[in-house]
Amino acid sequence: MTTASFAIPSTLARWLDQRRQMFIGGHMVDAAGGEQLDVFNPADASQLARVPLGNADDIDLAVTAARTAFKTWRHSRPNRREKLLLDLADALEARADEFALLETLDNGKPLTFSRHMDLALAIDFLRYTAGWATKIEGRSMTPSMPAVPDGHRLVAYTRREPVGVVGAIIPWNFPLLMAVWKVAPALAAGCCIVLKPAEDTPLSALMLAELADQVGFPPGTLNVVTGLGHDAGAALAAHPGINKIAFTGSTQVGKLIAKAAVENMTRTTLELGGKSPVMVLRDANLEAAAAGAAQAIFFNQGQVCTAGSRIYVHEDVHDRFVEHLVKQAKALTLAPGTEADSTLGPLVSAKQQRRVLAYIDSARQQGGVIATGGGTGPDGGYFVEPTVITGLAQESRCVQEEIFGPVVVVQTFRDLDELVALANDSPYGLAASLWSNDLTAVNRLIPEIEAGSVWVNGHNLLDPCMPFGGFKQSGIGREMGDSLVTHYTEEKSVVMLV
Ligand code: NAP
Ligand code: MG
Repeated sequence: MTTASFAIPSTLARWLDQRRQMFIGGHMVDAAGGEQLDVFNPADASQLARVPLGNADDIDLAVTAARTAFKTWRHSRPNRREKLLLDLADALEARADEFALLETLDNGKPLTFSRHMDLALAIDFLRYTAGWATKIEGRSMTPSMPAVPDGHRLVAYTRREPVGVVGAIIPWNFPLLMAVWKVAPALAAGCCIVLKPAEDTPLSALMLAELADQVGFPPGTLNVVTGLGHDAGAALAAHPGINKIAFTGSTQVGKLIAKAAVENMTRTTLELGGKSPVMVLRDANLEAAAAGAAQAIFFNQGQVCTAGSRIYVHEDVHDRFVEHLVKQAKALTLAPGTEADSTLGPLVSAKQQRRVLAYIDSARQQGGVIATGGGTGPDGGYFVEPTVITGLAQESRCVQEEIFGPVVVVQTFRDLDELVALANDSPYGLAASLWSNDLTAVNRLIPEIEAGSVWVNGHNLLDPCMPFGGFKQSGIGREMGDSLVTHYTEEKSVVMLV
């Protein structure tokens, strides 16, 4: 099989050519309605594969399969769950090149990033999370209740029990990594899971399910239903058989999920949108800060929830900083992700390309100056040039709204109070970075910044051991770190009169 300009290796080409099915209860199955969904390569708009168009009936089957599996999986030995997750990490590592290429073909991102970021991070996360399976513990207490009959005493402790069946809904920007961020903690905690990947990028989740089956996860522990958000996704969020919904996506859809979940008191964690400020103080090494800021916005074509999409730079160094940043943007190579020199691939879809270009137009209309970029890229793919905009007001759309593309707005500040006010003037609060070696200023700013993650002299410094999630409209709850204990288990209090 070839896309317009690239020969896909035969094993993967065969996999893509086969009729793709969903994974429910340990079986590959078609959608109940028999319909299919086309999957495209955003580098050249060619059709890559077709997957089942699952709907509420398929979700129902998957939830039933997960509930059945949960009856035994919840009592499985923790070290068995740990070993299976480690085996899954090993299996993924053994096929990392194939998975990376699949991810690039489906999502568009440069292959070197798929291999050395998406796959590497997914494998690391699986291994980190595997270790938690054997470390879920309760506490023992000594109650002071007076009404204990003579000669008796109280034994009191808490247990952490798996929350149940998890419904997971994920976006298209890091398809495999987002899948693993949900699947690993659920399975480690003894939960079963029904995963609905994004309609634009469903392929790596299906391949992951095959791998999980091969390494020995019991039927029904992991189920994948492909389909549309407003149909299969909404059915999953509203399903009474789900105990927890783990969602990553837009704030707009996150609110719909939360409303649906509340009907059944389904537990929710919501990882939502962002508009993360990059703050460059007067003392910063401008060249290093510009290189970091460029990565913060252009990595993954800017389709990153933590993308550094607003830069606030001290007014005295603004012009020099913008010069460095423009140089960084111009050094990027727009090309299909499968080309060796590609550092900026296409956006995920025509829809996303239109959306991002419309934001650039809005900047022009609102008085912005396009310092570099603003156009599209190689013919046939959904490319947008790395774009740096200056001269916009804080109220402008490109400063206030999440663009989710390679577009950054640079503004100035005069003093730290103004910087804090500007940085926090956003409905979002996912992440922020500070570029400075002025310890006093940095430590004054960190507690003032409304963001779930703050990085200093770096951006996207994410690690499985660090809790990740949003303040304000960027979400509820945390992922990573010990969050599988807090978000994938229920705490039960036990008191015994003995
Ligand atoms: P999205 O439109 O919210 O979609 C996310 C997922 O929700 C997709 O699987 C989508 O299905 C599904 N969905 C859509 N409507 C639904 C509904 N009514 N009920 C249930 N599910 C529904 O977001 P996106 O455009 O794919 O992704 C970009 C957004 O994700 C950005 O806002 C970004 O910031 C956010 N994000 C956040 C994080 C984080 O950790 N905080 C990480 C990555 C991305 P379809 O694919 O069929 O539409
Ligand atoms: Mg695709």
